[in-house]
Amino acid sequence: MSTSAQTPAPGVPRRLRIAVIGAGMAGILAAIRLKASAEHEVVVFEKADRIGGTWRENTYPGLTCDVPAHAYTYSFAPNPDWSSYLAPGPEIQRYFEALVRRYGIAPLIRFGCAIESCRFDDEGRRWTITDSAGRQDDFDVVIAATGVLHHPNTPVLPGLDDFAGECFHSARWDHGVALDGRRIAVIGSGSTGVQITSALAGRAARLYHIQRTPQWIMPMPNQPYTDAQRAAFRADPGLIDEIRYGDHYTGLVRRFTRAIIDADSPEMLEIEAIVRDNLERSVRDPALREALRPNYRAACKRLIYSSDYYEKIQHPDVEAVVGRIECIEPEGVRMKDGSLKPADVLVLATGFQADRFVRPIKVSGRDGADLDAQWSPSPSAYLGIALPDFPNFFMINGPTGPVGNFSLIDIAERQWAYIEQLLAPLARGECALVELRAETLRDYDRRRIAAARRTIFASGCASWYLDATGVPASWPWSYEEFVDCTAQPNPADYLFMA
Ligand code: NAP
Repeated sequence: MSTSAQTPAPGVPRRLRIAVIGAGMAGILAAIRLKASAEHEVVVFEKADRIGGTWRENTYPGLTCDVPAHAYTYSFAPNPDWSSYLAPGPEIQRYFEALVRRYGIAPLIRFGCAIESCRFDDEGRRWTITDSAGRQDDFDVVIAATGVLHHPNTPVLPGLDDFAGECFHSARWDHGVALDGRRIAVIGSGSTGVQITSALAGRAARLYHIQRTPQWIMPMPNQPYTDAQRAAFRADPGLIDEIRYGDHYTGLVRRFTRAIIDADSPEMLEIEAIVRDNLERSVRDPALREALRPNYRAACKRLIYSSDYYEKIQHPDVEAVVGRIECIEPEGVRMKDGSLKPADVLVLATGFQADRFVRPIKVSGRDGADLDAQWSPSPSAYLGIALPDFPNFFMINGPTGPVGNFSLIDIAERQWAYIEQLLAPLARGECALVELRAETLRDYDRRRIAAARRTIFASGCASWYLDATGVPASWPWSYEEFVDCTAQPNPADYLFMA
């Protein structure tokens, strides 16, 4: 066992040993920031053999980030070379890989290192981290950057194991499986299923898009950037700033968050009018139009952005199958209405277990506090960052943070800037432990849950936003409020212990 995390001496500045779990967008951010400060010793634990998180795991055809590319970048690393307004997934993966090289982060990362447990040692006042090979290491601080949607949800469908063709989850895409000219059934109509369907229409001999619940679709044109535009971005970074910080994008984010928190706001009514008009104008056949018309309000489920889904679903080789699945048979998908959708390939675009966060890592805090117990029946964390009973343990993009139709990178940067301010008194030797007060989380949850019940997410649909008690788990206030709340920790919210 390493014992390199030292027992702190009061009043003496110290170099912290910091563990970052996960080398996705958030973990890379923490690593870059910590390396730049050169104050602390940092180890990043990554279970896979490459960085990238969601952008490494998701490689499905059509994968595109529906947040404008220039807004889906770190504030300190603009990228003039994005190929289009909305970037394809592989390009985003390359962006992160290039930054890991540029900032020299790779030597900090232990690849192939899946963490099994984080245990707080009350006596030594540090965290012991154990990986799946049984190796242990001690740290003063743990940063969990383990992502939001990374544990695939495999649906319970009778007969699934007996399917005779190839079957995989969208986040485990099998690139060895031929697609062209074959019969493909895609189950699921979230952002993933919609993007896959658009990408495979015209390639598959027959494509079934099987949807238990149709979705509202927000039109979103995606223009490629020309060489001249990219040269202009390179010559004048102000043009990039105009896209990511200018009125157009920030106005959209502001209007969207206002719509979410006030379901009767003019902003929400405008969104509803746009998606309704999109359906009316784009789907020619009245029967198909009615089949694709959701029976819940726009943005209740995460709103889907697509410029071509309605066009692709009307392709002669594509069939929208709206209804419930009876079972999977060796030759295809049997619907409740008795029809069989024969398929060679079955794609499960069935989403993720959205309540996992840092789990399945076993986390035990002060006095043996158990994270699973604290998060039963549903997880929460103050500002998506901190928990009582878990001193010096912070999350980026933890539960109840803002996840939605805007840039999670921006959210992660704000959370990281907040965490840095909590690390400062530790580094100055002013205290050994920083821990959220239990009453801070209690008060936050009371207000959060009351506000969440008034959001559009609670307006009558099922979605991954809802926790096990049916309460939307996403940040229920405006984007501006998140900016304000994360600008600076309020010392009264925390215990600073020697
Ligand atoms: P999702 O939004 O959770 O959608 C899962 C789909 O699978 C739903 O249509 C669901 O139907 C269906 N489903 C689940 N179990 C089923 C069953 N037993 N039988 C039939 N259908 C079943 O998952 P996702 O599409 O992977 O997207 C998750 C999130 O990832 C998105 O909301 C977004 O935040 C993010 N994402 C973002 C982008 C982007 O461009 N930025 C792209 C992809 C994903 P019901 O609706 O009836 O439950």
